Amino acid sequence: MACGAGLIAPATASAGSGGAFASAPAKIKSVSCVARCATADAAKPGSLLRVRGSGMREVAKIVFLGGGGHADNATVRVSKARRNSVDVTVPDKATSGRLRAVNGDGARSVASRAVVSIQRGAGSSAALDVRVVGRRVYYDAARPARVDLLARRAMLVTVALVRVIDGAVVTTWPVALAPEAVSSITWDGRIEGVAQPVGRYEFRVFAGGPAPGAVAASAPAALATGGFDLVDHIFPVRGRHSYGSGQAAFGAQRSGHTHQGHDVFARCGTPLVAARGGVVKLNKFERSAGNYVVIDGEGTDVDYVYMHLQERSPLAQGARVLTGQRIGNVGDTGDARGCHLHFELWDAPGWYTGGAPIDPLVFLKLWDSYS
Ligand SMILES: [Zn+2]
Repeated sequence: MACGAGLIAPATASAGSGGAFASAPAKIKSVSCVARCATADAAKPGSLLRVRGSGMREVAKIVFLGGGGHADNATVRVSKARRNSVDVTVPDKATSGRLRAVNGDGARSVASRAVVSIQRGAGSSAALDVRVVGRRVYYDAARPARVDLLARRAMLVTVALVRVIDGAVVTTWPVALAPEAVSSITWDGRIEGVAQPVGRYEFRVFAGGPAPGAVAASAPAALATGGFDLVDHIFPVRGRHSYGSGQAAFGAQRSGHTHQGHDVFARCGTPLVAARGGVVKLNKFERSAGNYVVIDGEGTDVDYVYMHLQERSPLAQGARVLTGQRIGNVGDTGDARGCHLHFELWDAPGWYTGGAPIDPLVFLKLWDSYS
């Protein structure tokens, strides 16, 4: 524990706010328009917004913070509160900006990172408005690929997921769109449990219900199209870094052993994330490796090994970790000269279970080039 303040402070004191609230403030994670929307990614006065986060059950009011200062703040009571979300109707006076959640007893959240866009006037006049959320999607990450659809009138459409390189239709979804309500389709990079190849994909939206072959190259033009890149790894060191050479390289001869990974130097404390999700095989301390973690990559036969972490990773052995999820910090525990990540890749069947280490440098540089 960093400090024991909780033991001596009165239970009702809320540090920093000066208030005395019984409830913990909510934390807003995302905001989306779900009905009577202006466009697929914008609201208007009268729109129904869903504000998602944690601790939302106690939230009584949402404040639309607008631009700077309090003059343009607009507060509205929630129409429905659930554990992980509340619904509110956008008040007439609200302007684009961040939100704050206020509990029944006055406990206030910090301003959301998420920004709600509020349009006045006509908004989009298109019969169908489509928005693809995120330009890059990591396989097995917390955030899947997503397309939001908004129609002015009720309509039936088919969303096709197309692999751009060969035009293959990977899968399709029939969607019945209600007027001015946003419908979302998500895709996690798998088809029937199998990881799909990386590369460019598009959501293509066609009028009408699903018809076999209706989305082939000769088919009528899509009503709307939006693309994203599917990638399978993220660079694990999330800060300034440099690649060592010589003794830092894979295969370097060291006293009594061969270097089985590549060292990436970064300041101690730089966040480390899982290059690929999977299952935590090991989370241990060892005299030369220091604090280290071995992750069996999801959908691969490859093991991913991270050494010299500053502290023991919070992940439990056997836990599922997602691509990009925090696994700890760069450190210099164990036999390490200078703060660095010692990174290893092992092919099937894995780390010290019959697999062999492979030189990870080309992969690290590839992941580093886009993430
Ligand atoms: Zn090393």
